[in-house]
Amino acid sequence: MKILVQKFGGTSVSTADRREMVVQKILKAKGEGFSTIVVVSAMGRKGQPYATDTLLSLISDEYKRENTLGVDLLMSCGEIISTVVMSEELCKNGLKAVPLTGGQAGIITDDNYNNASVLRVDSEKLLNIVKQGKIPVVAGFQGISENGFITTLGRGGSDVTASLLGAALKSEEIHIYTDVDGIMTADPRIVSDASLIKKISYNEVFQFADQGAKVIHPRAVEIAMKSNVKLVIKNTLNDCEGTIITSGAIRNTENIITGITSMDKRVQVTVELDKNKCNENYNTILDELAKNLISIDLINVFPKQKIFTIDGKDINIFKDIMDKLELNYYCVEECSKIAVIGSRMRGLPGVMAKILRTLTKANVEVLQTADSHTTIWCLVESKNSEKAINALHNEFKLGC
Ligand code: ADP
Ligand code: ASP
Ligand code: MG
Repeated sequence: MKILVQKFGGTSVSTADRREMVVQKILKAKGEGFSTIVVVSAMGRKGQPYATDTLLSLISDEYKRENTLGVDLLMSCGEIISTVVMSEELCKNGLKAVPLTGGQAGIITDDNYNNASVLRVDSEKLLNIVKQGKIPVVAGFQGISENGFITTLGRGGSDVTASLLGAALKSEEIHIYTDVDGIMTADPRIVSDASLIKKISYNEVFQFADQGAKVIHPRAVEIAMKSNVKLVIKNTLNDCEGTIITSGAIRNTENIITGITSMDKRVQVTVELDKNKCNENYNTILDELAKNLISIDLINVFPKQKIFTIDGKDINIFKDIMDKLELNYYCVEECSKIAVIGSRMRGLPGVMAKILRTLTKANVEVLQTADSHTTIWCLVESKNSEKAINALHNEFKLGC
C-alpha cells in the first residue's frame, strides 16, 4: 500500500470552488495509486466565520490567559468543521471519506494546552480506515491528552499533524497544499518578484520556517526530516510542481543567499546596569524571564549595558518584572527581525558588509545584528521592514 498524506491549509478549503479543487488533487493522487490521508485546517483567514482567529475573537484575553483548556476546545472547532465539510465534498464525488478529530486519528499529546507536544501517534484506527479503501479526513492542529482533553499543537500546527501522520504511517511523501506555489525567496505578499525555490534542504527550510516564513511550520520540517519523508509544498490552485524538500537537495543556482524572511512584533530592550552589581542584576533578570517563560534573542552583553529582544506579546509581563526589580531600561517596540538565509555564506567574507551597505542606501536604520553560519539577522523598525526586505532581495538578485 502506497500512502500519501495531503494537507490542505485554511485558504485551500475556504470556499466551495476551492474545495472542489481539493477534491481534484485527492482524485489525482488516487488515480496514481496512492491511498491518501487528508489533513485539513480551519476554513479561511481572520474575519471568515470558522477561521481560528475569528473563533479566538469570541473570548476575552483575560479568559484566554486563565482557561487554556477552554481556548483549545474553541480553537479545535474550526478544523473539526472543515473535516466534516470536506468529507461530505468527497462523498459527493463518489469517494468514501471518514471525518476524524486529531484525537480520533490517534494523536496523543501532553496537556500543555495551546502548544502541546505529541507523545505518540496510535495509528491503528487510521490504518484500518485506509485498508478499507476509505479516506480519513483528519482535523489538523489538534490532539488529545492522555486524560481525554482536546489540545492544540501551536499556531500553524496542521502542518505538524501532516508530518506526524506521514512519519507514523510511513507515507511515501507528505504534500502540503497552500495558496502559493511553494517556498519562495521571500514572502510574495511583501516582494512581488519573489521566485520559487524548486529544491531546498530540510535544514534551510527549517531556518525559513523558524525565522517567520509561515508557509510551513518548523516542527513539521523537523518531524519529516527525522523520519526522512519527502516533503513537497504545492499550490492548491494550480498544477505547479512546487518545492521539494529533501536532505540532499540544493538549489540549482549559484546564489549564496537562498532567501529572506522576517519576524514582526519584536521588542528591543536595553537594560542599563550599575557597574558594581551588573552581573548579579543581569542574572536576576534572566532568572525572572525564564520563570515567566519569556525567551530572549539577539543578545549583546556590554560591561554596563545588556541588549536583547523579546516577543511583543510578553512586553507587559517584562515591564512588570523590571519595575519590581527597580532597574533602568528602555524599549523600542514594533521591531522586525529580518533573516537573510543561505547555507553557502558559511565562511564567506563580506556578506554582512553588503547587507549593511544595502540597508544604509535604502535609508533603513539597523538597530542590531547577529549571525550564524547560515543566517544573518538585522533588527529594524517594523515601519522599514518591507523596504529593507525588498532592497536586500534586489541586491542579492533573488527575483524572477
Ligand atoms: P495555509 O493556510 O495554507 O497553512 P499559511 O498562511 O499558513 O497557509 O502559509 C502560506 C503563506 O505563507 C503564504 O500566503 C505567504 O504569504 C506566506 N509566506 C511567508 N513567507 C513565505 C515564503 N518564503 N514563501 C512562500 N510563502 C511565504
Ligand atoms: N487553524 C490553525 C491556525 O490558524 C492551524 C493551521 O492553520 O495550521 O493556526
Ligand atoms: Mg499554515
